[in-house]
Amino acid sequence: MTDAGPLHAALASWYAAHARDLPWRRTRDPYAILVSEVMLQQTQVARTVPKYAEFLDAFPTLGALADAPVAEVIRAWSGMGYNARAVRLHRLAVEVVAEHGGRLPRTAEGLRALPGIGPYTAAAVACFAFGARTPVLDTNVYRVLSRVVHGLTPPERSALEPLARALLPGPDAPLDASAWAQALMDVGATVCSVSSPACGDCPLEPHCAAAPALLREGAPRALAEASVPYVAKQGTFAGSTRFYRGRIVAALRGLPAGGSLSVARLAEATGGLARDAIAALVDGLVRDGLARRIRGGVALP
Ligand code: SF4
Repeated sequence: MTDAGPLHAALASWYAAHARDLPWRRTRDPYAILVSEVMLQQTQVARTVPKYAEFLDAFPTLGALADAPVAEVIRAWSGMGYNARAVRLHRLAVEVVAEHGGRLPRTAEGLRALPGIGPYTAAAVACFAFGARTPVLDTNVYRVLSRVVHGLTPPERSALEPLARALLPGPDAPLDASAWAQALMDVGATVCSVSSPACGDCPLEPHCAAAPALLREGAPRALAEASVPYVAKQGTFAGSTRFYRGRIVAALRGLPAGGSLSVARLAEATGGLARDAIAALVDGLVRDGLARRIRGGVALP
């Protein structure tokens, strides 16, 4: 693909009419955008929207987050899952206040150097908050670009970033890098799904290498899924380590400030896990900054 102009034009007009109205798209505050991106890493949009507002009410600035006790941040994360994200976000805020005067770096490289920020989050904050012309590649964007350019045969993962970089809109394009990324995300979330892409409703259909075969075959699930790059297989949640860690943190979160639970009470909270299993889970939570041992029990940090 050499000329991305038709893709930019098609997506710009579609996005003007179909963009999802999401609260983190109404701000350029890098801290708020960072919060949204950390939340969206492992939580669906519908669940993130109300929690995002609640979290920003509780911690409206990066400084406010840094000043808060970490236990309070873990409590505010209730309902989101993957509680380690709350601890990482808090650590990051403390570091930015201590080392960067409370201001997030403006570039993806600068953001990437902070603790707990991966390449995706760094690119998203740089692009959405600071207007950096950099690809923002989540799984939706990967899938859409892969299908558009490579059809039903996804390329090596290493080929996608250079491709995404080559397709970035330039200064004369009808949309900027931020709108381009968000439009691709919306196409991926609402039209170009993993299992049943609706090519007939897609603004990219005239330019998409996968569309002719998908339309001809009626987009059967097997064909659609075979064209998805790098589907992460989710293990069963119930009974997993993550499940039990979540139960323990939920039990600790329900305590008044400074309260603790004994191993016997944690066994109840986890539905009767043995002591050594609880001890191993608590070790992991302590290591991740989600709990601390105190005399006779376990508490939030
Ligand atoms: S035309 Fe079909 S396969 Fe191509 S991007 Fe659109 S929905 Fe996805």
